[in-house]
Amino acid sequence: MSSEVAARHDAKKLVRSPSGLRMVPEHRAFGSPFGLEEPQWVPDKECPRCMQCDAKFDFLTRKHHCRRCGKCFCDKCCRQKVPLRRMCFVDPVRQCAACALVSHREAEFYDKQLKVLLDGERPRVLPGTAGPRRLSEAAVVQLSSSDRYLLLDGDSRHEIEISHIATVQILTEGFPPGDIHTYASLLGSQPASEGSNARATGMSLQYTTPGAEGMTQLKLTAWEDANASKRQSTAWLAAMHKAAKLLYESRDQ
Ligand SMILES: [Zn+2]
Ligand SMILES: [Zn+2]
Repeated sequence: MSSEVAARHDAKKLVRSPSGLRMVPEHRAFGSPFGLEEPQWVPDKECPRCMQCDAKFDFLTRKHHCRRCGKCFCDKCCRQKVPLRRMCFVDPVRQCAACALVSHREAEFYDKQLKVLLDGERPRVLPGTAGPRRLSEAAVVQLSSSDRYLLLDGDSRHEIEISHIATVQILTEGFPPGDIHTYASLLGSQPASEGSNARATGMSLQYTTPGAEGMTQLKLTAWEDANASKRQSTAWLAAMHKAAKLLYESRDQ
């Protein structure tokens, strides 16, 4: 893809929805894989009472819709205005308590981990682990500015579409004793590096490639050289882990 075409795919436009101003991709198909659709609002006539505290709506107790779940609440139960980048809102928007909690967590992802994925120190991709054209030497990996691809940069370039990643496994060290590496599946089970001291030393991704049958596997491993410390490379893996968790959780939404 030429950079001119890529730039056009990244173009954004400002739109106004009942919930607020949004900065959305020009082309729907080129939206961020972390993006969420705006919910349908529960119609006013279907909610005579607050869906949280059961207060009856009247002239004084007004209705407010949570921008994230679309349900109807009184002001007290839907008062918080929280950033909602996943729906492309420019400003913080009104949300119910449960949604505000989730959005706060995600705001942290956007403020911290997403930055690491985009421009942080990068882990190394092992030779021969990425198809369909196998890598002949080690490459580094980075998230594209559109959030849509993992870019592998080595002797040749290779890209993986985030939405085509099926499984993410965290590679950890020292469990059980004697083993160098054990795998803990991320999707569908407790993440291995949940908690403060993540010990992930690598990551294995399985993804589909258009036109190719079955899954391709890619292994990433933390590394260090003169330009990058292992800690920074590990931070990238932890951020990617969080990204995968975010994508996994939003499958239920
Ligand atoms: Zn209420
Ligand atoms: Zn809500």
